[in-house]
Amino acid sequence: MEKLQNFINGSYSSPVSGEYMDNYEPATGKVYSLIPKSGAKDVELAVVAAENAYPVWSKMSIDARSRIMVKLSEGIEAQMEKFVAAESRDNGKPVALAGRVDIPRAVSNFHFFATAILHFASESHNMEGVGVNYTLRKPIGIVGCISPWNLPLYLFSWKIAPALAAGNCVIAKPSEVTPYTAYLLGQVAKEAGMPDGVLNILHGEGHDVGDAIVKHPKIKAISFTGGTATGKYIAKTAAPMFKKLSLELGGKNPNIIFDDCDFDDMMRTTLLSSFANQGQICLCGSRIFVQRGIYEKFKEEFVRKVDALLVAEPNNPKAKLGAVVSKPHMEKVLSYVELAKEEGGKVVSGGEKVQLEAPFENGYYLRPTVIEGLSYDCRTNQEEIFGPVVTIMPFDTEEEALMMANSTQYGLSATLWTSDLERAHRMANEIHAGIVWINAWLVRDLRTPFGGAKASGVGREGGWEALRFFTEPKNVFVKY
Ligand code: NDP
Repeated sequence: MEKLQNFINGSYSSPVSGEYMDNYEPATGKVYSLIPKSGAKDVELAVVAAENAYPVWSKMSIDARSRIMVKLSEGIEAQMEKFVAAESRDNGKPVALAGRVDIPRAVSNFHFFATAILHFASESHNMEGVGVNYTLRKPIGIVGCISPWNLPLYLFSWKIAPALAAGNCVIAKPSEVTPYTAYLLGQVAKEAGMPDGVLNILHGEGHDVGDAIVKHPKIKAISFTGGTATGKYIAKTAAPMFKKLSLELGGKNPNIIFDDCDFDDMMRTTLLSSFANQGQICLCGSRIFVQRGIYEKFKEEFVRKVDALLVAEPNNPKAKLGAVVSKPHMEKVLSYVELAKEEGGKVVSGGEKVQLEAPFENGYYLRPTVIEGLSYDCRTNQEEIFGPVVTIMPFDTEEEALMMANSTQYGLSATLWTSDLERAHRMANEIHAGIVWINAWLVRDLRTPFGGAKASGVGREGGWEALRFFTEPKNVFVKY
């Protein structure tokens, strides 16, 4: 069976422990490769490599650094099919989705930050007759990047790219559940001419190797995307060490539909915002609030369309949903369906496993699920499920919709459907969210700030925000 390896100091190597863990294929439920079980000793090796590489990488001209990163982006693009197949196999998502979204986006992430750094500038503040301040923005040094399993290479590269572009050396850990494309990335970086030790990729469990990255005194900043509970633990560990922290955490996003919306456009997009990637996107709108005047019409058409969504093995080109990422995750999602029933909810579509034929009979397939009849403040409507499950709820007034939308601990994103421009802006201004889409969903411009409020995180990624995060400002004053 294939054994994945860590990528340290420009070479692939086994973990110091010599131990490996199983890597499951969600489509079949079978183990198909082995993952290094890394720990603090592997982090130490990576830190030594990064320390040696730092003077070379941080002092390299921006142009030269940018060229290497452009090559890295092109290197992934040149192996598009291999990366797409690997991402789908590791995660369970349809091949078509990995080919349309995940891998093209990883290519764009590297290309975007490779070129953004060419235009990144810092400020100067003149004091008339006194002197001038100028602000230098220096790389931080060695930084840690830890990412989740839902959009594996997409989110991994979203952190690594700005960190590298800004001149840092990186120690990165993908989710143990989806390590494969991160494993492939090492070779591409090498071929692009990335100096040894600049990018180090370690595999293993979060509480082991992830924790060792967070605790290492020479790793000066942590960029983390994952669950809110993990984020809280990381913040508690890193804060007393005065590390810079960027935390992109969970969400429970509202999708608010007014009766004056473009119904067909809303319906098409709401199917996606509910169930794309098996509902495992932090930006999915899992709480759907529909104005009472169109509630029954919405429910009837939505349920009919959800019933018709094809759940199939990821290589089926017609699959709208593939497998969810793991058995424990599937069980967690199903437990929330049971909770919803206990809380008085009625399952109007889905709610159960999908049994496929061999060789997919043990895969992790769930029917997209729609639940109605729940109160906005029950656990099902307050806790993140992160799977193909949405709730639908009627509302009467704008104020009521806003109150329910803002009632959770989260504040990641929100979607509004209305043709009333004033209302759209008024609501966008009041909603607790870092990202608001009006009459759209998941339209992304990589220059814009990305992240959430409240328990959805601290800090923003994207554009200048990311380059500012991965640099340390230093103000210099010169007297006239
Ligand atoms: P987790 O928090 O379980 O894990 C995220 C990453 O952190 C994984 O690489 C994990 O490793 C690692 N990790 C776990 N424990 C520790 C620790 N103690 N110290 C350091 N690292 C650790 O999240 P999931 O992978 O389950 O991802 C799903 C979550 O991510 C959802 O809550 C979702 O909302 C959120 N998310 C947020 C996004 C945003 O932009 N706000 C975007 C996408 C997802 P391992 O896999 O080995 O456990």
